[in-house]
Amino acid sequence: MNLAHVHIVNNSRACARGDLAMARAWRLLCFHLHNDARTIAIVPELPDLAILADAFHAALSGRNLVAAEALGPLTVRGTPTELAGFSGQRLERFHRRGKFLWLEFDRDRIAINAMLTGRLQLAQTPAAKRPQKTLFVMRFGSRPDDTGPRTDAAEWTFDAGWIPKPEATPEVRYRDPTQMGKIYLLPHGMDRTVPGAGEDEMGPDADDPNLTLDVWRSRIRSHPGELKNLLRNQAFVAGIGNAYSDEILHAARLQPFRKRGSLAPEEVDELYAAMRSTLSSAIATLRERVPPTFETEVRDFLAVHNRGGQDCPRCGKRITQTEAGGFVTSYCRHCQR
Ligand SMILES: [Zn+2]
Repeated sequence: MNLAHVHIVNNSRACARGDLAMARAWRLLCFHLHNDARTIAIVPELPDLAILADAFHAALSGRNLVAAEALGPLTVRGTPTELAGFSGQRLERFHRRGKFLWLEFDRDRIAINAMLTGRLQLAQTPAAKRPQKTLFVMRFGSRPDDTGPRTDAAEWTFDAGWIPKPEATPEVRYRDPTQMGKIYLLPHGMDRTVPGAGEDEMGPDADDPNLTLDVWRSRIRSHPGELKNLLRNQAFVAGIGNAYSDEILHAARLQPFRKRGSLAPEEVDELYAAMRSTLSSAIATLRERVPPTFETEVRDFLAVHNRGGQDCPRCGKRITQTEAGGFVTSYCRHCQR
């Protein structure tokens, strides 16, 4: 039963009883459900997570974890004892690999796979209001030895106003309305599988400097199939999902359902160049637009994804959109070949 159906059935039942307050409550509930459903389309990808990793590393590394709370037991893979063991550990590094975020403490590690609707908030103080559906919280201590910007932080984060003050005790809150995301506790010496993060499941990151044009040319040879699926295949190249695959293909002027085998050698090279330029320009935009509300996904600057029926920014003709396979694919039939 879909949400619209729930809405209609329950609304008519409530109205049949003449219970207007009930009908109003249902309308309100359904409004929130629809809003949550709409966020499902906005899945974090490499540019979103790259911003988050840079920012959270700059804000939190060098601080000790004071306490962690698992409010949504389904979200956390690990035991309460393991979770308690993180208290007092210093966060050394917060980084991204593919669509995963990694927190490296001085002894143990945490991996986060936000999946569809998982979002991380950086709260300057524990007193800041927690978002609804907060399922996991990490409270960090002050940075007593703070002497200005961290030398290992990304340059764009230097002097950012949202970096918590040295004496602050910031919190990271993980919220997830669909509860599909997972947080993996990885105590040192424990062999807990993180599905999707294995070395054989994940190719090089799409922005990895070691993924040179030559490496790309040789890797792409062993991956047949349609171009959109190819870009979304984490084993081929990691970090790209539904939205940025559409953007990259538009930039490369290639149609999403073209087969890799039909590409001329220069088209293989154009696809590589488009991947790099699309991701780096998205990251540059998001650095300006996202902080300090890291829990919101900014997508309004995209050229084609989710813009079916609108004008193509390159040729002015109508953007085509399909939902084949259960996900949105948007492209321009006129200037993508
Ligand atoms: Zn076009």
